[in-house]
Amino acid sequence: MNEDCIFCRIREGALPAHKVYEDESSLAFMDTSPVSEGHVLVITKDHYENIFEATPESLAAVSNTVAKIAKGIRVVFSPDGLTVAQLNGSAAGQTVFHYHTHLIPRRDGDPMDLHARGQAEPDKLAEIAAKISGALD
Ligand SMILES: [Zn+2]
Repeated sequence: MNEDCIFCRIREGALPAHKVYEDESSLAFMDTSPVSEGHVLVITKDHYENIFEATPESLAAVSNTVAKIAKGIRVVFSPDGLTVAQLNGSAAGQTVFHYHTHLIPRRDGDPMDLHARGQAEPDKLAEIAAKISGALD
């Protein structure tokens, strides 16, 4: 575990998060600064900074979880589209240096932002996490 990493601290339960799903190698939880309602992050359970460090097995686990969560988001929100984005390095817009993928439901005409400035209401995030979690196969 990397003590300075907020995603490692979430994985350890040292920081709160609205978890949607987890398995042995991946964890999905709500982005606290959502670009849109239903914005979920999927991380590797182990700490890898980026795609260049992550093992093939951990990348596969995240991909499988991303597909699962994507279907849950579709059931709950029926978005017009869904952005799946994975950023490596600050030049690419990565802001937390622990491998993660964004799932961002989109409506027609939404701006293509990947990060938002405002924090979401924790109660609202808990409600959405429970809805998506309940819609998973
Ligand atoms: Zn980490």
